[in-house]
Amino acid sequence: MSAARPVVTRFAPSPTGYLHIGGARTALFNWLYARGRGGRFLLRIEDTDRERSTPEATAAILRGLTWLGLEGDGDAVSQFEQRGRHAEVAHEMMARDCAYRCYSTQEEIEAFREAARAEGRSTLFLSPWRDADPATWPDGPYVIRLKAPREGTTVVEDAVQGEVTFRNDQLDDMVLLRSDGTPTYMLAVVVDDHDMGVTHVIRGDDHLNNAARQTQIYRAMDWEVPVWAHIPLIHGPDGKKLSKRHGALGVEEYQAMGYPAAGMRNYLARLGWSHGNDEFFTTEQALEWFDLPGIGRAPARLDFKKLENICGQHIAATPDEELVPEIEAYLAAAGEPALTEKQRAGLLQAMYSLKDRAKTFVDLIEKARFVLVEHPISRDDAAQAALTEDARGILRDTAALLRTTPWERHTLEAAVAEVAGARGLGLGKVAPALRAALAGRMLSPSVFDMMLVIGRDETISRLEDAAS
Ligand code: GLU
Repeated sequence: MSAARPVVTRFAPSPTGYLHIGGARTALFNWLYARGRGGRFLLRIEDTDRERSTPEATAAILRGLTWLGLEGDGDAVSQFEQRGRHAEVAHEMMARDCAYRCYSTQEEIEAFREAARAEGRSTLFLSPWRDADPATWPDGPYVIRLKAPREGTTVVEDAVQGEVTFRNDQLDDMVLLRSDGTPTYMLAVVVDDHDMGVTHVIRGDDHLNNAARQTQIYRAMDWEVPVWAHIPLIHGPDGKKLSKRHGALGVEEYQAMGYPAAGMRNYLARLGWSHGNDEFFTTEQALEWFDLPGIGRAPARLDFKKLENICGQHIAATPDEELVPEIEAYLAAAGEPALTEKQRAGLLQAMYSLKDRAKTFVDLIEKARFVLVEHPISRDDAAQAALTEDARGILRDTAALLRTTPWERHTLEAAVAEVAGARGLGLGKVAPALRAALAGRMLSPSVFDMMLVIGRDETISRLEDAAS
């Protein structure tokens, strides 16, 4: 590869389901690699399997990428729409004598294999049409096969796996164009990657064998082979292949669980790639640091504790005014009504007390409930149970005293201490009643934080509601 060639990467999902967490990581690596080098990151929807590809799956994948902030440059390319170009290349390969028409039927191929098995030879199909004179071509259906090298080796120089050598006598003359004129996956990927100017192919190591075959197509066309980087797959916490029983696999499920996109990016970047011992980093840092040598060769393991931890750190590190719109986007995606001006202002004001220890937006919204509701507020069972006769008395007295208390933290603390002291109680004994009255549940920011955010009138109303 010439040094001057600008970096172009791509993410090429098959639209047969949702955006899998492994796919999201592949997309992220490609995005980081390109964007960190001023290059381009392209999307290609590999929709040639018409039976299994659906527009809904494409939409879900694009939604997942958008949520993660991994948008491509320009519109996503549809592989299916390039089929004419794929066929054109197959014919060009014939013209270059790198491919040939093969008229062998399935039965003949089967018979060849049977005989090979019986004689203890390799069952790799050797087409009798490879060097046939065009004058002998019959009428009838044919496929176009690659005239693959029969001797020597095909070497895949992989940035992660090292040099991987494949014996050419173990690679058959792959089909490039089927008898109905449709391209095979192998041909389509190479033509598209070439046409899109892709310089680096970063993808799961389940495609490593394909890289050998694809290299043969590049060579046949005299096209520059991209840099390969085949990354180990993600495994479950138990080290086994990732599956549903390990938990959520779709990126949108993580979004619904309230993980912030920045935390998810950080966590996914760390799945299989490392930069020293850094666990927590910003996207800017990842863009600066990400490189292929930092990708490990062993499968990465999902670790939900680490995910939570990293997400909590991202929430804590995000400026309050950036968190509010993110939470609004989360609520909108969850189908919740939009916040009112007042709720938004309250959320912003309360944010300092909410983001502490919140690992997800779900945690944060749960704690923010006090600022999103107005009196009379509903109470859960635990809050209701905290409102004993004694507790109601405390609330009544507190409400009365707060009418004349200046609205500042230290004066509020003194007022509540006075009510508690008059009953020979400590602050810890009266706080649950106040929490139940102000938040309607026992998980909330501190009672003084809540009072300061919702203000005097709302505080007194909630205390009186709960006392009555
Ligand atoms: N469409 C393939 C997949 O979803 C990816 C092909 C590639 O990256 O070359 O596994």
